[in-house]
Amino acid sequence: MRADLHVHSTASDGTDPPAEVMRRAARAGLDVVALTDHDTVAGHAEARAAAGPVTLLPGIELSCRLDGRSVHLLAYLFDPDQPKLAAELARIRDDRVLRARAMVDKLAGLGVDISWEQVASIAGQAVVGRPHIARAMAASGAIASPREAFTRDWIADGGRAYVDRYALDPARAIGLVREAGGVAVLAHPRAGRDTWMPAGQIGGLAAAGLAGLEVFHPDQSEAERARLLALAHDLGLLATGGSDDHGSLTDYRLGCETTPQDAYQTLISRASPPAS
Ligand SMILES: [Zn+2]
Ligand SMILES: [Zn+2]
Repeated sequence: MRADLHVHSTASDGTDPPAEVMRRAARAGLDVVALTDHDTVAGHAEARAAAGPVTLLPGIELSCRLDGRSVHLLAYLFDPDQPKLAAELARIRDDRVLRARAMVDKLAGLGVDISWEQVASIAGQAVVGRPHIARAMAASGAIASPREAFTRDWIADGGRAYVDRYALDPARAIGLVREAGGVAVLAHPRAGRDTWMPAGQIGGLAAAGLAGLEVFHPDQSEAERARLLALAHDLGLLATGGSDDHGSLTDYRLGCETTPQDAYQTLISRASPPAS
């Protein structure tokens, strides 16, 4: 059984619509795909309708922050209408718009000729984010390609036109997910300098009710995977995996990493989704 538990669509910053993600999953020979768009479940209905032979595991990737560092939390099988969780999701979404507008204003002050309307139209139905601003910047000729926006000159973390965003405390987010019947997995804890998480902090989240650690991720080295596996074992956490596919942004890598079958089955058995 092949289960890719970390995938994005146009509902956030992926390049393929949810239905296309599910068709690609079938072609890639996957049995299970978790759609885990950033801070939104807007892609689930379309993905479910297009699932075909592939099982859709409904999910999300929540934007959190701990000690000034960005932390991503994957959550699965929760009830998105549970009032406390729904209120947080709305707050994160509203903040994304305020923040994107503030970055566009800062860019205008730096002489970049883009408007909020252009950014919003590039984002379309998606949750607006920096990739959409980057594409508007490239379209305006301010930079040669969207990738160039992610430097300290522009909208990289701490850059001249960067604006910080509202983010959840991860232990609180784990609590909200569990109250909504779901299970939480810490995404790519050792994928890079900006997101490298010490073992002590991971232990704290385990104590807060975390179910798993994303060990098998394209940006985690073999050495980090080995350390994370040992840590997962010590903390009683499941070791999961996923491609973190963003369509063309990540060279169509759906299915390049998967979750072992026993970890997947234990994970879903710990969820208590609503009876509907
Ligand atoms: Zn992430
Ligand atoms: Zn992701």
